[in-house]
Amino acid sequence: MNNQKKRNSFKKNVLNKSANAIAVLALGSIQFMGSSAFAVNGLMKTHFGNAISQTEQTGSTSTGDNNPSGTPKVQYYGGPVIPNVLIHAVYWGNAIPSNIKDNAPDFYATITQSSFMDIGKEYSTAGIVSTGGQSTNQVIGRGSFGKTVEITPSVTNKSVIDDSDIQAEIEKQINSGALPAPTDNTLYMISFPKGLDITIDDGKGGKATSCQQFCAYHMGFTTKSGKNVFYGVMPDMSSFACAFGCGSGSAFDRFSVAGSHEIMEAVTDGFPTPGDKPSYPQAWNTDDGQEVGDLCQSNTATLTGGKVEYQIQQIWSNRTNACTTQPTYSKQ
Ligand SMILES: [Zn+2]
Repeated sequence: MNNQKKRNSFKKNVLNKSANAIAVLALGSIQFMGSSAFAVNGLMKTHFGNAISQTEQTGSTSTGDNNPSGTPKVQYYGGPVIPNVLIHAVYWGNAIPSNIKDNAPDFYATITQSSFMDIGKEYSTAGIVSTGGQSTNQVIGRGSFGKTVEITPSVTNKSVIDDSDIQAEIEKQINSGALPAPTDNTLYMISFPKGLDITIDDGKGGKATSCQQFCAYHMGFTTKSGKNVFYGVMPDMSSFACAFGCGSGSAFDRFSVAGSHEIMEAVTDGFPTPGDKPSYPQAWNTDDGQEVGDLCQSNTATLTGGKVEYQIQQIWSNRTNACTTQPTYSKQ
């Protein structure tokens, strides 16, 4: 759609196998250290306008339990969701940490085919019309893992890259055929090497930096040929700042918690809000631009069914007014 071509204004946001074998167990434990401001505050926030603000910090503690005071409401703004997400694990160069290479593909396969993804059904857009009159008439269900692709970035001599560099590189890699062409279901989850900082516009005229103001993000843009591209940016979680600001546990625990957050937000809001005023082509947000992961980012849980158990986080359900890892509709 034409409005989606305003991609340059969307400088922000950021993360299943056999149907029966996989269960998601919510432990409800809170693992993030409230003492480190940039940790809780910036954790995997996809809306940078909020991510580094005091408002977000307050929001993450007041809504990060199962009985939040002042019940949030996520509403539909008319943009696309990702119906049956197909995740490709994209490695930015040949120096991706082994904890990612060893675990990310199985994690993506496990989560996309788990009951966790069934939460997304309530954020289907079929039959729902935004206040602006738009609807994409999509139904959200489970997804799948596609392939692992190690790209050779055109810029290799920088220690800091910007989201604009990432978008340009994705488009280039798609055009060359190195990356599978995007469909309405494609989500490129991009992992980065140790020591490479990532910046993105913070919605306030400045830049936010990985592991300082955010831990991960998801984003969308439209290519020159008019295809929507949805992607997640997953910085190296073992770096010093991320190790102390992006949750607890192993580097891959931090990765998978952030990944679950970003995947479900990409699925329910392909083009995240640039600031804190969502409008078309955003999809599901609160009226101040929070997505379904942002409302629950202190609540971790365990995903079973894969090679190992994975740490994930809960997702907001409008239907039950709670953070959950369980589907809120019964199976068809
Ligand atoms: Zn988020």
